[in-house]
Amino acid sequence: MRLYDTHCHLAWRAAEDPPVDQIARARAVGVEAIVCVAIDAATSVQARELARSMPETLRASVGLHPNDAGDADALTAHLARLEQLAAEGGFHAVGETGLDFYRDHSSPAVQERALEFQLDLARRYDLPVILHCRQAAARLLEVLEASGGPLRGVMHCFSEGPETVDDFLALGLHVSFAGNLSYPKSESIREAARRVPDHRLLIETDAPFLAPQPRRGRPNEPAFVAFTLEALAAARAQPAAELAAATWRNACALFGGS
Ligand SMILES: [Zn+2]
Repeated sequence: MRLYDTHCHLAWRAAEDPPVDQIARARAVGVEAIVCVAIDAATSVQARELARSMPETLRASVGLHPNDAGDADALTAHLARLEQLAAEGGFHAVGETGLDFYRDHSSPAVQERALEFQLDLARRYDLPVILHCRQAAARLLEVLEASGGPLRGVMHCFSEGPETVDDFLALGLHVSFAGNLSYPKSESIREAARRVPDHRLLIETDAPFLAPQPRRGRPNEPAFVAFTLEALAAARAQPAAELAAATWRNACALFGGS
């Protein structure tokens, strides 16, 4: 089984646990491709450097997380930098972007401007978009629907109510599940996971966050995407090998690989 971790922040713990070691452990359990996701310009550059050092395994995104968008003035500078980085190239996705009304690091207006800019950036560079959503599903759906036309990309770490899954699918998006799918209290996430058709499913770790239940309490890492797959197979009562093949195929179509 080949596994594709479609969302991790590999450089986050680079000092304590070098990315090469994390990647070696991941490859040992069949994780053959990994998307290194940025949260701002600096981590976009880091992700691109990592991806260039291991192009057969790693892909990088360029983006600005809603919690890192700053105030209106800071945002203008952030967006100019993203534009410049995207023009330089070396990226396979835009994000992570989206809305986060759980934290108030940036105002909703600033978050929305950052999101609209990145949706446009993704369209102009023909890249998939990686979407983050926390306690903001209704507004996010409105912004996405108003953005004009079908979207290519993924709702990452899906943790919204299962009743919103159909709306995100209708926009053309994939839906990705992370380690929190395996938590005892996550029955609503498992219900959401049952509603996604095979051809729109992805798996991820969101490392170093959200270590899966069997490894809970320690930093997450790409190797643990195997536990996400296991939890998905259990939730859907579907063979893990079948889900590994489907999620691999879907991830390759979005982020590259074969
Ligand atoms: Zn993330």
